[in-house]
Amino acid sequence: CGIVGYVGGNRSVEVLLGGLRRLEYRGYDSAGIAVIGADGDLGLRKHAGKLQVLVDDVEANPVQDGPTGIGHTRWATHGGPTDANAHPHLGDDGRLALIHNGIIENFAELKAELLTAHPETVFTSETDSEVAAHLVGYAFRETGDVTEALRRVVAQLHGAFTLLVLHRDQPGVVVGARRNSPLVIGLGDGENFLGSDVAAFVEYTRRALAIGQDQVVTITAESVSVTDFEGNPVETEEFEVTWDA
Ligand code: GLU
Repeated sequence: CGIVGYVGGNRSVEVLLGGLRRLEYRGYDSAGIAVIGADGDLGLRKHAGKLQVLVDDVEANPVQDGPTGIGHTRWATHGGPTDANAHPHLGDDGRLALIHNGIIENFAELKAELLTAHPETVFTSETDSEVAAHLVGYAFRETGDVTEALRRVVAQLHGAFTLLVLHRDQPGVVVGARRNSPLVIGLGDGENFLGSDVAAFVEYTRRALAIGQDQVVTITAESVSVTDFEGNPVETEEFEVTWDA
């Protein structure tokens, strides 16, 4: 339902939880974050219930903060509102984290194919989203690049989705993709943001870039690059957020 992504200074936890707070008005039933800590570990916290449940857990059991992270509020469509079904979902043996807004219509078919090719895959949720996490994980093993891996996977998905992915073997990078579901880029100074709407990052920057349908975006602290699903670069349009988001 709500999505936030961040690459920049060593303060992902604050940026992600703040962004999720400002997206709360959209309604949700679960919330979670994944952060690549300064030591390179991938920290994950996710819970059914109010954002405050997540905030309290992060306070009691801190993840190591770092420059790269993603956060999600969920409005369940596939699988009830449980901790296990909350996003982010892990792939590539826990090295990759993925969040998803929307519905992957052909997830059952993709899951069956994936279990034939990789019977060792362990699914830990009932969501349509988790299959995308495992698919990107296996694609990453072949490509060694998150952007390339996500492009391969979105080409196989039917439905509406915004996806964000990070991988601990490629720290300092968050990759997003969208089809029939919103995603916006926020341009900072030595930091960049992704959000399902500008409210996710408006506290930090009012410079934004719109992303078109069927496009993939890669952000680092210093760069933003947008392509179509085939990898061809596309033009983006910068706009100023002038309203109170
Ligand atoms: N379909 C996904 C799920 O049920 C994502 C729902 C959402 O957009 O929050 O977990």
